[in-house]
Amino acid sequence: MEQQTQKHLESFLNLASKIKSYHEAIGLLHWDLRTGAPKKGVPTRSETIGMLSTEAFKLQTSDEMKTYLDTLTNPEVLKQLNDTDRRLVEECKKEYDRSQSVPPEKVQAYTVLTAKSETAWEDAKHNSDFEGFSPYLTEIVKLKQEFIDYWGVKDTRYDTLLDMYEPDLTVEKVDAVFARLKARLVPLQEKINASENKPNTEFLNQLFDTDQQEKFSLFILGQMGYDFDAGRLDESVHPFATGLNPGDVRITTNYLQDDVTSAVFSSLHEGGHALYEQNIDESLAGTLLAEGTSMGIHESQSRLWENMIGRSRPFWTRYYKDLQQHFPQLSEVALEDFYRAINRVESSLIRIEADELTYNLHIIIRYEIEKMLFNEGLEVKDLPETWNAKYKEYLGIVPPNDGLGVLQDVHWSGGDFGYFASYSLGNMYAAQILHTLRKELPEFDFYIAEGNLIPIKEWLTDKIYRYGKSRTPSELILAVTGEELNPDYLADYLEAKYTEIYKL
Ligand code: ZN
Ligand code: ZN
Repeated sequence: MEQQTQKHLESFLNLASKIKSYHEAIGLLHWDLRTGAPKKGVPTRSETIGMLSTEAFKLQTSDEMKTYLDTLTNPEVLKQLNDTDRRLVEECKKEYDRSQSVPPEKVQAYTVLTAKSETAWEDAKHNSDFEGFSPYLTEIVKLKQEFIDYWGVKDTRYDTLLDMYEPDLTVEKVDAVFARLKARLVPLQEKINASENKPNTEFLNQLFDTDQQEKFSLFILGQMGYDFDAGRLDESVHPFATGLNPGDVRITTNYLQDDVTSAVFSSLHEGGHALYEQNIDESLAGTLLAEGTSMGIHESQSRLWENMIGRSRPFWTRYYKDLQQHFPQLSEVALEDFYRAINRVESSLIRIEADELTYNLHIIIRYEIEKMLFNEGLEVKDLPETWNAKYKEYLGIVPPNDGLGVLQDVHWSGGDFGYFASYSLGNMYAAQILHTLRKELPEFDFYIAEGNLIPIKEWLTDKIYRYGKSRTPSELILAVTGEELNPDYLADYLEAKYTEIYKL
């Protein structure tokens, strides 16, 4: 490599790690805001975050960055880079092109609009007032359509939005995958609805000491192999995980007095996100590749731990005794009854409260509607009607008002179109990964039933975690499972599980 090129590479790596440092600082300030920062400090803190974000953005789009990228993206040079550096160059190039393409005044307009719109959405949801929110959403969709033109239309307009969250994902692929999933899940859901063997969940409606809930969450996280020297558990209204660097991956959960399962499963969920980021290879630490490779793959890791391990029979065969020790009010409840209760399936209106099966239908509905908005000319004013018709068709229920319907999620008020699909992708990736995991680790159920979860964590580290963002999601899923995303694994998993639980 020529001396000048070598110099540019070194300066590029320095600049990229400087940007990463800004991200770490911003991440920590965000964590602080959400976990109990004093109220009076919030306005100044928010300004600080805004200032640091602007600085990071300036570095990312600087002339300096352009100079290095011009040198390093030359195909002859790119060939000589090691895998990690090449991925880093490609990532920064993608970011650079994307942010350069939109005029700054449009970005500014969008920031102002979405900030106002989130406040308007909160009121509108509270009052079930879609008409009050509709002018904001109309403007957001209009601006987003302009952005798509700046960014460049892929196969279809909506493809451009999907690609932002799940690189290489296309409408063509998602259409095919969701169609296959829907064809199997809708009938399964109908059979379950008609079943006489509904689990009893009454015993879950009791009061559960929140100190004991915290103790149990800490115990389960320890069992998973969550490293408390590289993280911590706190409380927040909405549980989340935040990876500052592989040595500092923090999670939160939420203890509800009248619901013991909420904290248990959100700890498993966020714990799954955290294991991913704690186990990224050391060689990637401090680089922009030290994070999960996509929303969908990240979500696959949280859901694998929460649902496929945490809601399995072997898991509770081992851990139910511990739960009963923390909560004597469950001492008379049989393991089998508990297992069935935590796996109850029921059509419901609210996505975030949905079970493992119907959750996917909530997502498919949002995906289809977003696609109609961006590709098929659906107008914002017609959203409630479209929404309600799809809930009727896929879940057999109709929201009594828009607060419980089309207004329930915050995403659209922030302009996050293309994001929802990754939740269901996470479920599909997880089931596909689980299939391979079971083949390569035949003692899987046995390990869980004896409370030996570490071999599972190690397998996932070896196949997924350690790579961070150095492999794209499609490369990763192909390398781990030997095939592209295949929705049949999720359908197989859900059919087997619920056929047994509901005796279908
Ligand atoms: Zn979360
Ligand atoms: Zn998650």
